[in-house]
Amino acid sequence: MESKFKSLSVFEFQSKFPDIQSCSKYLAELKWKDGYKCPICSNLKYCKGIKDFDRQCTKCCHLESPTAGTLFHKVKFSLQKAFWIVYFISTNKKGMASTELSRKLQLRQKTCWLFKQKVMQAMESSNIHPLLGQVELGLFDVGYLNKTSGSKKNEKNKILLAIEKKSKGISRMYGCHLKNLKQNVLNNFVKNKVDQEATLTTHDDLLNHKIGIKKTKSNIIKFNKINRATNGLKSWFAGIHGNVKYIQYYINEYCYRYNRHLMKGEIFDDLLTRMVKHEPRPYFDIVNYAPTS
Ligand SMILES: [Zn+2]
Repeated sequence: MESKFKSLSVFEFQSKFPDIQSCSKYLAELKWKDGYKCPICSNLKYCKGIKDFDRQCTKCCHLESPTAGTLFHKVKFSLQKAFWIVYFISTNKKGMASTELSRKLQLRQKTCWLFKQKVMQAMESSNIHPLLGQVELGLFDVGYLNKTSGSKKNEKNKILLAIEKKSKGISRMYGCHLKNLKQNVLNNFVKNKVDQEATLTTHDDLLNHKIGIKKTKSNIIKFNKINRATNGLKSWFAGIHGNVKYIQYYINEYCYRYNRHLMKGEIFDDLLTRMVKHEPRPYFDIVNYAPTS
């Protein structure tokens, strides 16, 4: 995967976020970038809260911290370490395992795993930028070693992938872990991720049959872009995430990274902004996560 996005060096990161205060200040700036509005009474005026970057509604006195109502809500460790996790995940083009984060930041592995799932949640597609133009669909299996089942057997999972083709390459892609191959599940994915005006093609018989989309000629199969995309995603699973329970999170992460490979801004800022805009995810929701599309 290409890594053309601008990224902060460790030195730049350290000088930008030397302490918890600088992280809180930054989150407050992101959170209230478009102005303040009290979540209780919708009042637009505030005064300074008890802590440095908290805001208090002048009408109902509701007190709000920069982390409240975001994916940083009630974070159990220092905000600075949370920023480091976002930094490591966003700047390593293959992401970072929770065991590695745990070692680097001296936090429990389970703590890192949980927060990492929140970061990955922020990478989920918002369905507001559907794929355009020439779009190709592919269906494939990805295997992984499921140690959580105790059997350590290799499980196969069906993944549906849609790619937006541009000249010789792939500009964007979205993927979905399929629990079943029901027609409405497949159609929902297409409805959410592909623009209505796009031209859909596939070389997959099942998709051709179930969704009724145009089939590409067989003589170009071995050169087609969907194979390149599925191979990329397969090696992503095989290379770093060989023991994956929440497959959709990892597909989200892969597609998020891919779709930003030409991004001019910083991927770290983009992720932080998404985390601030995203509603909090309690532990229960995360471990019971089910893909919506
Ligand atoms: Zn209020």
